[in-house]
Amino acid sequence: MDHNALLDVLDRFEMRGVHSGAAGSSWLKASGKIIDSVDPTTGQVLAQIQLAGPEEYEKVVAEAHEAFLEWRMIPAPKRGEIIDEVTQALREHKEDLGLLISLEAGKIRSEGLGEVQEAIDIGAFSVGLSRQLYGLSMHSERPEHRMFEQWHPLGAVGVITSFNFPIAVWAWNAMIAAVAGDSVVWKPSSKTPLCAIATHKVADKVMQKHGWGGLFGLLIGDRHGVGGPMVDDVRLPLISATGSTEMGRSVGVGVAKRFGRSLLELGGNNAVIVDQTADQNLALSGVLFGAVGTAGQRCTSTRRLFLHESIADSFIARLTGAYKSLRIGDPLLDSTLVGPLIDEGSVKDYERAIRLATEQGGEVLVGGKRIDGPGSFVEPALVRVPSDIPITKEETFAPILYVSTFKTLSEAIFRQNDVPQGLSSAIFSDSVRASENFLSAKGSDCGIANVNVGTSGAEIGGAFGGEKETGGGRESGSDSWKIYMRRQTNTVNWSTQMPLAQGVKFDL
Ligand code: NAD
Repeated sequence: MDHNALLDVLDRFEMRGVHSGAAGSSWLKASGKIIDSVDPTTGQVLAQIQLAGPEEYEKVVAEAHEAFLEWRMIPAPKRGEIIDEVTQALREHKEDLGLLISLEAGKIRSEGLGEVQEAIDIGAFSVGLSRQLYGLSMHSERPEHRMFEQWHPLGAVGVITSFNFPIAVWAWNAMIAAVAGDSVVWKPSSKTPLCAIATHKVADKVMQKHGWGGLFGLLIGDRHGVGGPMVDDVRLPLISATGSTEMGRSVGVGVAKRFGRSLLELGGNNAVIVDQTADQNLALSGVLFGAVGTAGQRCTSTRRLFLHESIADSFIARLTGAYKSLRIGDPLLDSTLVGPLIDEGSVKDYERAIRLATEQGGEVLVGGKRIDGPGSFVEPALVRVPSDIPITKEETFAPILYVSTFKTLSEAIFRQNDVPQGLSSAIFSDSVRASENFLSAKGSDCGIANVNVGTSGAEIGGAFGGEKETGGGRESGSDSWKIYMRRQTNTVNWSTQMPLAQGVKFDL
């Protein structure tokens, strides 16, 4: 497909040529260096972005703080009505935003559209949430006293996002933060700046219409110019950061030093267990999408596969066959299942992992090579490993699946948990006993544990996130909204006496 022909999408978002990477209540003239946005399919430059400099940083964060001071007093359901309009605007731009994700992040068309749908879904969720920011009430031990808690807005939220969900992760944070009464300062990955600019424009148009320009700020910059200052900035009481464990280690420590809150969504190393009772058709499609979908560039991608020894050979034969028939190529063609990696650095990481796996005793069953030609394409690799060799404990952000066998379920669960990361996990089994074991307190230690559903492709309604080096944060559905608010416990005395708690006497 001629990607140049698709670039009129840039005109529709008015972002041809060199575009500023800083916006508060209006677009600012950026003063940082100029970077390229590159199409990973063709290697061609899509557009250029001038990064935010220190002055723009200051202006955008100050405006977000000012906007918060006003926005926090708007009733939450009224905030929800405005977010409803933002959600509607995302619906109207779904096609174009999805196309942009395919062009800039290399996702296949249906996954690009699916990501925008995820942003729409969290918008709809947030609108409902705006009428459900419930606190509890408690019975006071003192007569004619009332105790309750309420949830107040927190402040301007700093949102740092990764390249692989260039729109949805912002929406997960921004939609909920906004109904909670917070403002948002977004630092997207500098690998996907166009997705951020376009999304910001769509949302900001609605906010401007209602006089709330500056509530959503955008600062495109690197970790030194923007990321680091956000981490140190006390005007941002919460930093929600999505990306590698290395990034999270630095952000988590920095934010803790100033007693800020951090919400960390970091790397995963997700495994699937297939036992001897499993429906193998289900398992095959679950494993395939998990391992090669999004070219292995999801935090929830399946990276390790544990097969019961009695079914291993036949399952591997079917999986190998499926890998051989994968259609790799232009993500904008309907027939394509696997698009490119994001850049040359990711191709190098993939090649390194394949080399180490082989040196450590693994056998590449299928794939394992970069594909010559333009773009950052690799063949999804299936690697049979004799045991849990060191490379299987690392997250390589590429389509590599390490396969090994197990004898007992407890062995498989132990090995699944025996990695530093703790994001997503799955068992394929028709045995109630095996599934319940897997979900029990002695089962999977991950934030997400599924039965007969693969590791990737979460719905927005659940709390999303993981344990250990995945960072411990929870985003999106369930009660994840609580981190965007501050809890206040209130006691009201409507008696004429002043009894103290615990029966303490303090009378003159
Ligand atoms: P990355 O860590 O390279 O970058 C993520 C973001 O953090 C970027 O905006 C980057 O500029 C910024 N950043 C990096 N170092 C920083 C620092 N020291 N201070 C402040 N900001 C900093 O990650 P990536 O390559 O964009 O994304 C892939 C990684 O993200 C994978 O490890 C993947 O598992 C993870 N991820 C996790 C989740 C999740 O929800 N758990 C979701 C998506 C991606």
